[in-house]
Amino acid sequence: MFNFDNTYSRLPEQFYARVAPAKVPEPALIKWNEDLARGLGIQSEQFTDRELAEIFAGRKLLPGSEPIALVYAGHQFGQFVPRLGDGRALLLGEILDPSGKRFDIQLKGSGRTPFSRQGDGKAPLGPILREYIVSEGLHHLGLPTTRSLAAVRTGETVYREKALPGAILTRVAASHIRIGTFEYFAARNDRENLKTLADYAIQRHYPEIQDEADAYFHFFRKVGRAQVELVTGWMALGFIHGVMNTDNMSVTGESIDFGPCGFMDQFRFDRVFSSIDRFGRYSYSNQVQITLWNLSRLGSCLIHLADRGTEDTIESYNTELESLGTLFNQRLTSKMLKKIGILNDEKPEDQGLLHQWLGYLEKHALDYTLSFRNLAELVKNDSDSGFFEKTDDFQAFYRNWEKRIRAQGRHADAIREGMNSVNPLYIPRNHMIERVIAAALEGDFDLFHEMNAVLEKPYEEQERFNEYRSPPEPHEVVRTTFCGT
Ligand code: AMP
Ligand code: MG
Repeated sequence: MFNFDNTYSRLPEQFYARVAPAKVPEPALIKWNEDLARGLGIQSEQFTDRELAEIFAGRKLLPGSEPIALVYAGHQFGQFVPRLGDGRALLLGEILDPSGKRFDIQLKGSGRTPFSRQGDGKAPLGPILREYIVSEGLHHLGLPTTRSLAAVRTGETVYREKALPGAILTRVAASHIRIGTFEYFAARNDRENLKTLADYAIQRHYPEIQDEADAYFHFFRKVGRAQVELVTGWMALGFIHGVMNTDNMSVTGESIDFGPCGFMDQFRFDRVFSSIDRFGRYSYSNQVQITLWNLSRLGSCLIHLADRGTEDTIESYNTELESLGTLFNQRLTSKMLKKIGILNDEKPEDQGLLHQWLGYLEKHALDYTLSFRNLAELVKNDSDSGFFEKTDDFQAFYRNWEKRIRAQGRHADAIREGMNSVNPLYIPRNHMIERVIAAALEGDFDLFHEMNAVLEKPYEEQERFNEYRSPPEPHEVVRTTFCGT
């Protein structure tokens, strides 16, 4: 079924621990992602659902699979933890897709490992469904992300605040190398393994720079740009990751580790979802600063690998970090302007217009996603305010916006289509995810399947599924989300 071609498990033994998945009592398949499987060149036809469940619950090991738990460290809410690692996940192995691209196949929720600390290594059903929906949702919205290949029930009960059914997710990722993986070796002053890791990551993800004179610096720049592209993409969609610790930031620039995350309904610059993020470290707009801070942690590891004088090296990393900051603002502005119909001839004063718009959304507590979509309806329409109340704030923005849009000299339809191609109608709304989970806990997975299907076409009208585009009713608003532990 898989042609495993493992490389991480050939790295020195300090990189991982070999662990067998726990034997779960009664695996049952919830979902198999056939489209993803096909894309990866996985032939699953010869397996029944029962066999797929056995395989993706870790009961049946496929030939060539060498399960390992990866070690890493990380800054959690700014505090350095020298050893974290896969406490509830196992890398089954790597496969090559038909184009030769390499992917990790990982089980999440598969039992204890040497890195589990007090944890049980298991996952309750809710967080598994949430990760499935959000990761696949982000993918269909067009962002780089780890994907979900399968979700299974284990037939086991896991105990959190209450007894819950257990589940396992099969995650597919370009790799599971995190900023925290670099921090692990750097903090131990293990320069040799740090170098091995950097060389491995470069060869696997950025082979085009491996012969550069200062390959580690180029690696820093590549990771930086990938992260900037990712987080500006999140912000344009109103997505808040919620736990941007350095152990949750992949050097590939994929979204990874969906715990207390969420898409904003009502817009607020300082919106936070995570129940444990009491100081708003990972709030919507802080994601800018945190991305750069996380990158500075990576830089401080890579500095150890430089041949040049330390001061010189530090200076060049700092300069690069500053450029990444500038790039972040440019990319974010450009993505946001596209959302309000300024398609590519940006002007400095557009910043003001953007702020006026976001300020208006915030002040009137408007729904982030729908507001952009509704604004597109006004491109052609110069008398009606449509969805928006004719408040002074709206009128003031509208006058400036309308003039600016017109000045582009483009056809109204082209502007509207441009906007609609970056402003989704359907996002994985938290209250809908909660509804899906509540039904699943009653044994009904129809909503889960339906929601995934709707989110496959997030930019297209699907009239039958209007419910999925509506903001929550006041009693349905999800104020906080929780870690998947
Ligand atoms: P997270 O913040 O969810 O990415 O997890 C941070 C650390 O906690 C990682 O090392 C995880 O492997 C570990 N962890 C989370 N949940 C569990 C669990 N149920 N059992 C063991 N370790 C866990
Ligand atoms: Mg994590």
